[in-house]
Amino acid sequence: MISDSFGRRIDYLRLSVTDHCNLRCLYCLPIQGFSFSKPEEILSDDEIERIVALAISLGINKIRITGGEPLVRPGICSLIKRISSLAGIGDISLSTNGLLLSQMAKDLFQAGLKRVNVSLDTLRPEHFQTIARFGSLEKVLEGIRAGLAVGFDPLKINMVVIKGINSNEIKDFVTLTHKFPIHVRFVELMPIGETGYFSREHWMGLSDIMKACGELVSLSQDESPRGFGPATYFKSPGALGTIGFISALSSNFCRRCNRLRLTAKGVLVPCLASEKGVDLKNLIRSGGSDQDLCDLIRQAVLIKPERHCMESKNANAREIFMCSLGG
Ligand code: SAM
Repeated sequence: MISDSFGRRIDYLRLSVTDHCNLRCLYCLPIQGFSFSKPEEILSDDEIERIVALAISLGINKIRITGGEPLVRPGICSLIKRISSLAGIGDISLSTNGLLLSQMAKDLFQAGLKRVNVSLDTLRPEHFQTIARFGSLEKVLEGIRAGLAVGFDPLKINMVVIKGINSNEIKDFVTLTHKFPIHVRFVELMPIGETGYFSREHWMGLSDIMKACGELVSLSQDESPRGFGPATYFKSPGALGTIGFISALSSNFCRRCNRLRLTAKGVLVPCLASEKGVDLKNLIRSGGSDQDLCDLIRQAVLIKPERHCMESKNANAREIFMCSLGG
């Protein structure tokens, strides 16, 4: 078991398996001017498996596969199979934009994945490309249907609330939990990613998001869907699914933070809002032993800050891209 300098137990690793993405969501990636990594710069399957196995030996038991868009990584199902077969894995999940999910859901499930989060910011077909710039709502909905059909449970939908763009759809997402056994989480926009997009104009705080949901009943930990992140859960009366809220700014969740992030290029980052990390790929490729790698993983845990500083005017968090960090 590993704990950081503030006594938080670290047992969750978010693995960005690629920084490539088939969408360019307007708050996340610029349409031009971001260069994706070359294949040789990205950790190989063998390197990822080695790091995960060592992280497990140090107390990590929950893994989330993310990106970029993880489903565009060639051979992602076999990588998931290798990770899910490692002894000591308690939970393995995946975040996706859902575009490729309908064709891959069955193989992912057979590879050992049992739950997925789908990022979806609008339920209006004509708005989809305004926000995501490519793809289509129908493809994502097909993916969600396929995910439910193969048995991913829970299946969560993450909606980043962007004031003036999709904030008028909050109630529609609540209605979705009445129709399907899915769990919708409303995510407060964070000052990370597309430089300059984040602004007062587009940011909507937790209390306004909650108000727009209508009547909600608070759920206990036992009644909430399985998960190990910062969301708090509620239910709209009579719904099949639940409503969750992830709020980095209005309601800081760092006190409960249990995670590390491994970038696709092999840097282990202890905080979402900081680029500071340790370079595991460099150590692996220069012949580092398992002991050396474990020492460096422990070092990353020790430099984990007490809390993020996204709200600080001096923070340079905006320059970090979510597709490198994995969200
Ligand atoms: N492609 C996958 C997906 O869509 O879930 C995984 C990577 S994506 C970077 C992970 C999550 O980060 C998505 O739900 C996305 O909406 C969210 N995200 C990206 N930039 C954000 C920002 N500035 N504020 C809040 N959430 C953000």
